[in-house]
Amino acid sequence: MTLPSSAKTLIIGGGIIGCSTAYHLAQMGEEVLLLEKAALTSGSTWHAAGLVGQLRSSANITQLLGYSIDLYNRLEAETGLATGWKMNGGLRLACNQERWTEVKRQATTAHSFGLDMQLLTAQEAQDLWPLMDISDIVGAAFLPTDGQASPSDITQALAKGARAKGAVLKENTPVTEILTERGKLVGVRTVQGDIACEKLVLCCGQWTRDLAKTIGVTVPLVSVEHQYMLTEAFGVPSDLPTLRDPDRLTYYKEEVGGLVMGGYEPNGIPWAKNGIPDPFDFQLLD
Ligand SMILES: Cc1cc2nc3c(=O)[nH]c(=O)nc-3n(C[C@H](O)[C@H](O)[C@H](O)COP(=O)(O)OP(=O)(O)OC[C@H]3O[C@@H](n4cnc5c(N)ncnc54)[C@H](O)[C@@H]3O)c2cc1C
Repeated sequence: MTLPSSAKTLIIGGGIIGCSTAYHLAQMGEEVLLLEKAALTSGSTWHAAGLVGQLRSSANITQLLGYSIDLYNRLEAETGLATGWKMNGGLRLACNQERWTEVKRQATTAHSFGLDMQLLTAQEAQDLWPLMDISDIVGAAFLPTDGQASPSDITQALAKGARAKGAVLKENTPVTEILTERGKLVGVRTVQGDIACEKLVLCCGQWTRDLAKTIGVTVPLVSVEHQYMLTEAFGVPSDLPTLRDPDRLTYYKEEVGGLVMGGYEPNGIPWAKNGIPDPFDFQLLD
């Protein structure tokens, strides 16, 4: 398929954010063209763990995440593509009194958003997550409407839904330059030619900073190294809730009968500060 020579709204990047943007704008009747330099999901999206938790410190983000749950509840039926979404609930642990105070406040906040966040004893938490040693747990919060999904599958479903509403999504089409005239956006350059556009949405994940910089826009975003472990299958039930332990900065979820565990390092190491290696599609760090 040849590229159109113009688009009202052009999106750069075919990860979950770009495809979601295309899906929602197309639903609103916007004319949308999405360009992805490699394949859809080939950036960060393909290897995200896929935990979907709603509670954040910002009310707006929490409400947005609540909308995501509504969307994931219907996306598979709407598009015919599996999303891996399962509402198995989310547990948040408190392993000291200060965290417990915070968790109780979060529960109050959650209730004000209409979320059914339940406060549990350590034993009740272990009943939901029998693998856990609860010797230092003060309490836990459980949100039954949290869950987990397959980020790649959700992205493909969003892409299909966007196409069904008229959006055009092109893979293997890197944007090499953003074109401006007298400081005003006029389009983008690709190896197949220039495309005029009225609006441009940068959904390039960790590539956004460098691209935005070419037109003088500062996006304060840099990747940090992240480590996670996957176990072999050992009989973990598929309805195990996701688990977050904020004091140890770790998260857990079930995957094909085993566990995934990821950790946020307190002293995260920035990666590729001076430019991301090219190509870096469907890749992991050592
Ligand atoms: C190990 C790990 C675990 C994670 N776990 C979770 C989790 O449990 N829950 C959660 O919510 N999030 C999680 N995340 C975060 C999540 O993966 C990201 O927030 C999300 O995938 C970002 O999506 P994106 O669309 O912004 O970026 P990306 O998926 O990186 O997409 C950007 C796209 O832009 C394309 N692109 C870049 N430059 C150009 C160009 N010039 N022209 C055309 N295309 C271009 C790239 O090829 C890429 O496909 C995790 C991340 C990692 C790494």
